[in-house]
Amino acid sequence: MPRPISASVSVSALRHNLAVVRRLLDQDAERAGAQPASIWAVIKANAYGHGIERAVAGFSAAQGLAMLDLDEAVRCREAGWGGPILLLEGFFQPADLDLVDRYHLTSTVHTHEQLDMLATARLSRRVDVMVKLNSGMNRLGFAPHDYAQAHARAVQLHAKGVLGSVGRMTHFACADGPEGVAGQLEVFGRATGGLANGPVSVCNSAATLRYPEIARGDAGTQHWVRPGICLYGASPFDDVSAASYGLRPAMSLRSEIIGVQNVPAGQAIGYGATYRTEQAMRVGVVACGYADGYPRHAGTGTPITVAGVPTRLLGRVSMDMLMVDLGPAPSAGVGAPVALWGEGGPSVDDVARAAGTIGYELLCAVAARVPQATRP
Ligand SMILES: *Cc1c(COP(=O)(O)O)cnc(C)c1O
Repeated sequence: MPRPISASVSVSALRHNLAVVRRLLDQDAERAGAQPASIWAVIKANAYGHGIERAVAGFSAAQGLAMLDLDEAVRCREAGWGGPILLLEGFFQPADLDLVDRYHLTSTVHTHEQLDMLATARLSRRVDVMVKLNSGMNRLGFAPHDYAQAHARAVQLHAKGVLGSVGRMTHFACADGPEGVAGQLEVFGRATGGLANGPVSVCNSAATLRYPEIARGDAGTQHWVRPGICLYGASPFDDVSAASYGLRPAMSLRSEIIGVQNVPAGQAIGYGATYRTEQAMRVGVVACGYADGYPRHAGTGTPITVAGVPTRLLGRVSMDMLMVDLGPAPSAGVGAPVALWGEGGPSVDDVARAAGTIGYELLCAVAARVPQATRP
């Protein structure tokens, strides 16, 4: 028998979450009499830990898929995805362009080196590109003063038959926080406003949920949003839950109680003796530790659900186990089900907050040794 831990992914939750985003964009566009945005469902990092093939199934109604790894792009095609695929970091070396060509991938272009590689490539068809602006995050993209020249180079390559559509794109650093997107959006407008009418893409999950109005298209411009985390039912925000948007957790991490200790008052629990019982307690031992991807920095008080009852973690998380307070669940013993996050348990965001991180990191970090199952 394997250990009782497993992660299950609900394809219907993925589908539901995509529909939530779709509805939000459609309602906004309808109010404004605009063209609704198209959706590139972001499935980088093995679909945020959920599995590429499950994501291809769950996001079959998306207009496109976006990711980083050429391998993942190939897996999407092999899983039957025929629509657009955007490479968020583009390609890295000339040989990558063979795959871009063969699998008909759309590429972000964010360096002159990439334009050089395109200029000398031998391709069987035109490559669609999104020319990326660094509008203030200072991660990928052409600087504002360089953007018009880079875009003009791409338009020249279009004229030579190398490139297909030439779009404009940027990424927000603070769409989830008080700073918002206005400053970067202004830089984007100034740097790209006068340029030809290719597609435009600026919004991640936070911007899509918070500012759907900036993703409106019109007769001349197709807008694409790039939501990731919200499609998996987790929140891009510190202070607004995914549930408040009607999103459903796609991944549920579950295990079982594999031992029970009746601990007298004044005893310590776990490595480092960081928690001491104030009174006699029943303590459950759960088959889940940091080697499974559960965050070691989650301390006493982190929410966890045992036999359907919300309770709390006690002491330090070990490599393979963690301990919980069975006080609220007096009838739970060995074999009782434990929901670490997801359906029937705390949200991954609540666990992440208790560990000083974000749901994104926990979802991506579920270890390979945890068996994954697909729910319909
Ligand atoms: C990861 C990523 C996204 C999606 O971000 P979320 O916060 O998960 O919605 C969008 N665009 C780019 C360029 C990304 O790297």
